[in-house]
Parts: sequence; structure tokens; C-alpha cells
Amino acid sequence: MHREFDAIVIGAGNGGLVAALTLQKQGKKVLLLEKGRVPGGFATSFIRGRFEFEASLHELCEYGTAENKGEVYELFENLGIAQKIHAKVVPETFAVYALKTNEFYEMPMGEEAFIAKMEEYVPGSKESMQTFFSLCREVKEALKYLNETKGHPETEVLMSKYPRFMVVAPYSLLTVLKKIGMPKKAIQILSTYWTYLGSPASKLSFCHYASMIYSYITKGPVTLENRSHEVSLTLSEEFASLGGVVKYLTGVKEILVENGEVTGVITQDNQKFLTKHIIANISPNEVYGKMIEKENVPVKAKKLVSQRTLGAQGVCVYLGLNKTKEQLGLSKYAYFVYETLDSDVEFKRMHSLYNGNLAATITDNGEDSSILCLTSLLFGNAFSREVTKENYFAIKEQLAEDLITSFEKATHVSLRDAIEEIEIATPVTFARYGGHPEGTIYGYLASGSDNLLPRVMNEEKEVYIKGLRFCGGFSSRLLGYSSTYINGRDEAMKTIGDMKNE
Ligand SMILES: Cc1cc2nc3c(=O)[nH]c(=O)nc-3n(C[C@H](O)[C@H](O)[C@H](O)COP(=O)(O)OP(=O)(O)OC[C@H]3O[C@@H](n4cnc5c(N)ncnc54)[C@H](O)[C@@H]3O)c2cc1C
Repeated sequence: MHREFDAIVIGAGNGGLVAALTLQKQGKKVLLLEKGRVPGGFATSFIRGRFEFEASLHELCEYGTAENKGEVYELFENLGIAQKIHAKVVPETFAVYALKTNEFYEMPMGEEAFIAKMEEYVPGSKESMQTFFSLCREVKEALKYLNETKGHPETEVLMSKYPRFMVVAPYSLLTVLKKIGMPKKAIQILSTYWTYLGSPASKLSFCHYASMIYSYITKGPVTLENRSHEVSLTLSEEFASLGGVVKYLTGVKEILVENGEVTGVITQDNQKFLTKHIIANISPNEVYGKMIEKENVPVKAKKLVSQRTLGAQGVCVYLGLNKTKEQLGLSKYAYFVYETLDSDVEFKRMHSLYNGNLAATITDNGEDSSILCLTSLLFGNAFSREVTKENYFAIKEQLAEDLITSFEKATHVSLRDAIEEIEIATPVTFARYGGHPEGTIYGYLASGSDNLLPRVMNEEKEVYIKGLRFCGGFSSRLLGYSSTYINGRDEAMKTIGDMKNE
């Protein structure tokens, strides 16, 4: 059967859901196709025994509260869903351990408190921290302007309104922090969140990191009481209530292209739907490599895919514990455990299995139990290089052992006696669930010259097939909840623009 839609969105992850709802709200006739049985992609949860585990979200960025709104809060308001989401600000940022050097730091939220705490740990850091925060504000404003001008800013405006942004924009986090005279130890503590963006301080764009950490510190890290699945479900229900058509268990196997323009899709069960506009919430590797007939894939698209490096692979250990946080002696929400606080050293170490580095979150589960999630990143395909059919289960269990040991060593808390439920996710799990190449959970590596800003600026040049745009973790705003929600909206608005230009 041939049915025509104004736009088809492939994949109901964060990006796809927001893109579909945004288009539908603009009065378009939209079809959302999802290969899984529920919306959300990684933004989901699962139940084992009496525990509902959040599958991915540690901390939502750019959300804040009704009194101190972040960009994602405003986006949800515009989409009409903010009132339905149960979000909670975590009153601190992070606690970080360095096992080899026996260090521990815990940092509060709020700009002044953060600067004061850093001065306590690293006397003499105050001035550079103040400079850092004022740079963050300018970077955020400039990024907003770049987004509003869709990557075509007026140079004079940039130069006059955001002069310091123009200076720092090409440089890495490490370079800028050194340049503003921040002491080495303060740089290391401030860079703790580097694993959230999956690149070490020497390779990470200053603007990207500044924008993220500024939001965490000033608006607070946010958790979702009913897990990220509540947002996914609310977005999909709102879409359907406005007349959007959503089909689950309907993976797309082919994107149809004629004369350099998209014309429709064919699903796994051989349904054909026609459209001139597709937003793919999946990787260009899958789209250009498997879903479009080879002769219709432009050379530039093939080059793009071969030049970009896949980002981090993920390993997660989800623990349902029969003790509360208090009984365990864990007072914080987010813990980072590294061997050292030098992100370049750690990035190298994380090219091997069993490196012990992790980001952990812990929440109470009712009155007598808690949920602890240990997440570890692996780079350079460290997992795929080592794993075989024969050793898969042994590696999986060893990885979990390693992460539990590392957390116990750092916090001096004994977990093993308290484990009631355990689930382990490896890159194989993430590849199967999300359809991501090599089970990467972070899209493409954002590193060196292939970073947030060049990607945003070059986005229009990367539309190689008319009518085909990408949203989500593999697209220009890169990985993360806030980025993928915002990027879903932006790609939908660009698609509306494409429709107007027809
Ligand atoms: C363990 C873990 C921890 C994380 N922690 C955080 C965190 O604390 N903070 C943060 O901001 N981010 C975090 N992230 C990253 C964040 O979850 C992702 O960046 C974000 O959810 C990706 O959204 P997306 O729009 O790219 O969609 P995805 O989640 O990648 O969803 C893509 C969707 O497309 C569907 N699909 C794939 N192929 C097809 C097809 N052929 N046809 C139809 N549908 C298809 C998939 O089934 C899926 O539903 C974490 C990720 C993981 C895995």
C-alpha cells in the first residue's frame, strides 16, 4: 500500500520523538517508525524484581526548574509536556575519586559555592574559576546565536558581541584552562565530567564542555523520578494525540532515493510509505551503509562516514541493593572513579578492558533498598577487539566484577552482600537494542577538529541527499539527552524550512 506523509521520522529515540512531535505541532502529517516495541531508544527503563532501573540517564542537563528554566525545560513547555514530567534537581554536582593518587573531591552546585569549594581544595584557583564562569556565559550566548542563525552568523555580530568566544572557540578545554591560568589540580577536578562527553580535556572542545558543565552547576543536574521512559512515553502520546501516526515493531530497511532526492521508505515487513522528507534518528553509518542503494549514496556521504570515528562503547552494571543509601554510607548521587585525574592518561587506559573507571549514580528504591548503576566507557573498539562468541559471558562477568571492585575500593562500601538483582549491559546489548554500530552509546567521537562547532557550522553542507536529515546522538549537536531533544526540534524546524522552499 502506498501512503503519503509530509515527513517520516525513522527511530523513536529522544531526537526522533521531539522531531516528530515538533513537525506534528506545525500541522504536518507525520509517520514515526520505530523498530522496537516502546518509544525512547536508550531513554527507557526495565524492571527486575522490585527494581525499575533507568537504562541510561545519569543526569539531565539544561533542564533546571520552573523558576530557573534551562533550554530543555523551555522546549518541553513549548511542546506542551513540561507539566507531565517529574524532574528533581540533585543538590550537588559530583564526587570524584582518584584511586592511584588517593584523592577525593566533592563539588556543590551553584556558581559561588563551586568556586569557593575549588578555592578550598586548590588555593589560588579563584580568579581563574571566575574567568572560567564568565567565559561560560559568553559561550552559551554565542552558541545560542549560532543556533538561531542556523550556522550562518554575521561575523561583525560575533566579533562585537562575543569577542572572547571567537578567541576560545577553536581550542580544547585543556588549552583554554591553562591559558586562563587555572592551576593544574583545579583543571583536573573541573574536567571530571569529561567522560560524559567521551573525549579527554586535550581533545574536547572548550565550548562544548563549558556549555555542559555551566548548565550542571547553575541549573543543577536533574534526575527523572519516573525514569526517562516517562518523557519518552509522554512525547509519543502527545504526538499520537495530535494525530501523528506511530508504528512500533516497524523497522525501516530501505530509504528510497531517486535523482538525489528521498521518495519514501520500505519497512522490514515490506510496507512502503512515500514522502519527500525523512529525519533519521539513526547513524549515518547505518543509513548510507545499509539502507540506501549503493549507487544513490553520494561519494561525500561515504567519505563522511569513513572519516568519522565511532565514539565510546558502554558497559553498564545495574544493581538492585537490599540496603538504602544511608545504610550503605553513600550520601551523594553521582560518583566518578578514575585511576588518576589526568583525563588524557585515563582516556588511553580506557582503550583496554578492565580499566576500572566508572561513573556511578545511586538512588533509594522505597524505604529499604536502593539502585546503583555503574557505567564504564571503552574506546578504540576495546570491547569488539577482544570479544568472541566463546568468551562473551566470561568477559561480561569480569567487567562487572571489575567495576564493582573499583567502586568498593573507592568508597570503602561493601556492595556484594547487598546485591539482590544484577543486570549487565555490554556493547552487544546496546548494538542489539539501539541498532548502533559496534554498540557505541555516544555517536561519533567529538575530538580535535571534528567537534561541536564545526559540526553545527557544517550541518547544511552535510545534507547530501535532498530531503534527508539526521537527528540524535550521531548528528551535529552530538550525544546526550539535552542535545538530542534540542537537535530533534532543530532538525524538524529545518525540515519545515525545506518544505517552504519547495
Ligand atoms: C548507559 C548510558 C548512559 C548514558 N548516560 C547519559 C547521561 O547521563 N546524560 C545524557 O545526557 N546522556 C546519556 N547517555 C546518552 C543518551 O542516552 C543518548 O545520547 C540519547 O539517548 C540518544 O538519543 P537518540 O536521539 O540518538 O536516539 P537513540 O536512543 O539512539 O534511539 C534511536 C532509536 O531508533 C530506533 N531504530 C534504530 N534503527 C531503526 C530502524 N532501522 N528503523 C526504525 N527504528 C530504528 C532504535 O530502536 C531507537 O529506538 C547515556 C547513554 C547510555 C547508553
